[in-house]
This record gives sequence, C-alpha cells and structure tokens, in this order.
Amino acid sequence: MSRRRPIYEGKAKILYEGPEPGTLVQYFKDDATAFNAQKKGTIEGKGVLNNRISEHVMTLLGNVGIPTHFIRRLNMREQLVKRVDIIPIEVIVRNIAAGSLSKRLGIEEGTPLPRSVIEFCYKSDEHGDPLVGEDLITAMGWMNPRELDEVMGLSLRVNDFMSGLFAGIGIKLVDFKLEFGRYYVNEEEHQILLADEISPDNCRLWDAATSEKLDKDRFRRDLGGVAEAYQTIARRLGIRIDPQTEN
Ligand code: UDP
Repeated sequence: MSRRRPIYEGKAKILYEGPEPGTLVQYFKDDATAFNAQKKGTIEGKGVLNNRISEHVMTLLGNVGIPTHFIRRLNMREQLVKRVDIIPIEVIVRNIAAGSLSKRLGIEEGTPLPRSVIEFCYKSDEHGDPLVGEDLITAMGWMNPRELDEVMGLSLRVNDFMSGLFAGIGIKLVDFKLEFGRYYVNEEEHQILLADEISPDNCRLWDAATSEKLDKDRFRRDLGGVAEAYQTIARRLGIRIDPQTEN
C-alpha cells in the first residue's frame, strides 16, 4: 500500500495526493462491487490488470488526440493522473443491447443497435445512478451546453477508436462507461479531460467469434473465470504482465 495521503476511496480505486500540485495517484484495488455495492468480492490480480489495460487504452486515446487525465504508470497498481473535478455524470455508450438497456426495454441482449447511442446517469450511489436527460443536465448545471456537446463528441470519438481497437483483436465492444473531469489550467480556464479508467470493469467486451463475456459481467452474473477473462483482454491487447514484479 502507498504511504501517500488518501484523498478519496472508491469501490475499485483509491486516490492519493500526487507528488506535484495538480496531480493524483490512482491506486487500483482487487475489490469488485456490483448492483450498487450490494454484491461485493475480490478478484485476485484485477487491480494490476486494470492498471495496465487502462494505461494502454488511455495512452492510445491520447495518441489520437483525446485529452485524458493519464500521465504515466508508476508501478503495478498505481498511475499518476492529472487532478480533475469529476463531472457527476456517467456517460454510457452502447453499440449492442445489453444490461440495463435490455432489462428496461426488453431488447434482447446481443441485438446490434441501429446506431451507437449515448446515455447519461447522474452519479449518486444513494439513488442508484439514475438515468438523466440532456435537458436536466444543463438545467441543473452539471454541465453547460458547450461542455455537454464536447463530452458527447469525445465519447463518440472514444467509441470509434475503441471499437476498432477491440475489433482488431477479435472482441466486440458492446458498451462502456466514461467519466470526464474539469482540469483547471488557472482559476478561470479549464479543459475537459477523460478521467477514471477504461477496463473490463466498465466495458462490456465479448469475444467476436463465440460471444463469450470477457468483462465484469462474469462477476455480476457469477460466471466464474473473472480474472482469466481480464487476462485474456490484456493478452490480446499485447500487454505483458510479470506477476513477479508486482509492487
Ligand atoms: N457501467 C459502469 N458503472 C456503472 C454502470 C455501468 O461501469 O455504475 C458500465 C457497465 O460495465 C457497462 C455499461 O456501463 O459496460 C452499461 O451498463 P448498464 O447501464 O447496462 O448497467 P448494468 O447492466 O451494468 O447495471
């Protein structure tokens, strides 16, 4: 564990004060929760895998011009990121019906959507992250219309890039969740950055040939082989992890 000062502890990560102003250290835990933390568990090695997978994807997104909070990986479980004020909206991008969309509308899981769609949820554990519309988001000031526009544009670019990335390794990107934050350059100016993490914890990833689930649904639905599925994703992305060097 780190000796740094903790700022915030979430379900799967701890945020520590960073070594320089304007930075944080993201520590990836092995803890997993689902259904608004009603289901809890530990997936051995998940933190190490998600740290590496998120580093990999965020770096590639940065290379194609998506502004992200990622600075660099520090060790097997920690990465240095820019300190942002998280916008309290989860952005969900869907390509194929699954999960809550299927439940809500009775659309069979696995049905391709006519086009990619974006949904928004207000981040509130107390209220179970309820679905909210664009009008409410701007009315409540969670984002102004310009920010909302930017966040939607960035989310679709992330979807295009990631769909291609995963298609190239035989995986269907079914859906995923993004979080964005405001990074203050000075008191007046801020930039919107992609924040949090991108990993099988917040993406649905299905094997393209067999539709085998290679993501957190294995934990949510007690399918077993959770760590193995995350390892498969890492391996197909070309990430090599030496368990001996975990620190
Ligand atoms: N998701 C997430 N965190 C949440 C809710 C959803 O990372 O709090 C991700 C989830 O892993 C999936 C996508 O967002 O890839 C869509 O999730 P959905 O709305 O279907 O909710 P779920 O069925 O997971 O409850």
